[in-house]
Amino acid sequence: MSFDKVRIVLVETSHPGNIGAAARAMKNMGLNHLVLVKPKVWPAREALSMAASALDVLDGVRVVQTMEEAIADCHLVIGTSARLRQMPVQLLDPQSCGEKIVASMPVQEVALVFGREISGLSNRELHLCHYHVHIPINPEYPSLNLAAAVMVLSYELRKAWLAAADKGLSIGGGDWDQEAATAKELELFLAHMKEVLIEIEFLDPENPRQLMRRLRRLYQRIQPDKMELNILRGILSAVTQKIQDIEKKGK
Ligand code: SAH
Repeated sequence: MSFDKVRIVLVETSHPGNIGAAARAMKNMGLNHLVLVKPKVWPAREALSMAASALDVLDGVRVVQTMEEAIADCHLVIGTSARLRQMPVQLLDPQSCGEKIVASMPVQEVALVFGREISGLSNRELHLCHYHVHIPINPEYPSLNLAAAVMVLSYELRKAWLAAADKGLSIGGGDWDQEAATAKELELFLAHMKEVLIEIEFLDPENPRQLMRRLRRLYQRIQPDKMELNILRGILSAVTQKIQDIEKKGK
C-alpha cells in the first residue's frame, strides 16, 4: 500500500515533540510525507525522541516558509479545524475525509493540513482549502493535541483504504479525461479573475466585501480541471481584449 501522493502539512508547530509524535503516528498508518511550514524549532532533539522508530519520516521532512508553498502542486487540500468557522468551506467528518482522499489517490496530490498548537490555522490558511475536517470530540473541550489529531485522521485514512481494498474497488479516480488543476493554478486563475473584475468595475478594490472569498469557495467546490481553468482564463483574456478594442474605437 502506498500513500505516496498524500502529504501531512504541519503549520508553525511550536513544540518539536509534537512533530516527532506526528511522524510516529503517520508511520504507524503507512504515511511518510511530512511538510513543515516555518516550524518554531527545527531540527530538534525532542522530535527525534518522540518519533521512536519513525526517524525515516523525519529524515524526509520538507521545510517551507508558507502554506501556499506546501500545497502549490496539490489538487486536493483539506484543512483541519478544532472550531467551526464563519463562512464555512464544505465540512467533512473524519470518515468521509478518509474516503475522499482514498478516492483521489493515486492520481491527485493531496495535502492534509494541521494548524498551530495555540491558534490553529488562520482564516486565510483555511480559505486555501477545498474542504475542512473536524473531529467531533467533546464540545466542552474540542481541541485535541496536534499529534493526536494527526493520528485520528491518519487512522481514518488507513481504514478507508483497507475498506476500499477489501471491496476490490479501483483506487484512483483516474477515469476523468483531464488532469486536475493544482492549488497554484487555481491561485493564478483567481488573481486573473480579480484583475478583470476590477477592470469591468464589478469589484471595487476599495470595498471588496467577501466577493473573492465567495468566488474562491465556488471554484474550490467544483474543483475545475486544467482544461476548464484554461477555458475560463481564455474567457477572461477575451473580455480584456474586447475592452481594449472598444477603447481604441472610442478614441
Ligand atoms: N485553539 C486552537 C486549537 C489548535 S489544536 C483552535 O481553536 O483552532 C492544534 C491543531 O490540532 C489544530 O489546528 C488542528 O490541526 C488539530 N485539531 C485539534 N483538534 C481538532 C479537531 N477537533 N478536529 C480537527 N482537527 C483538530
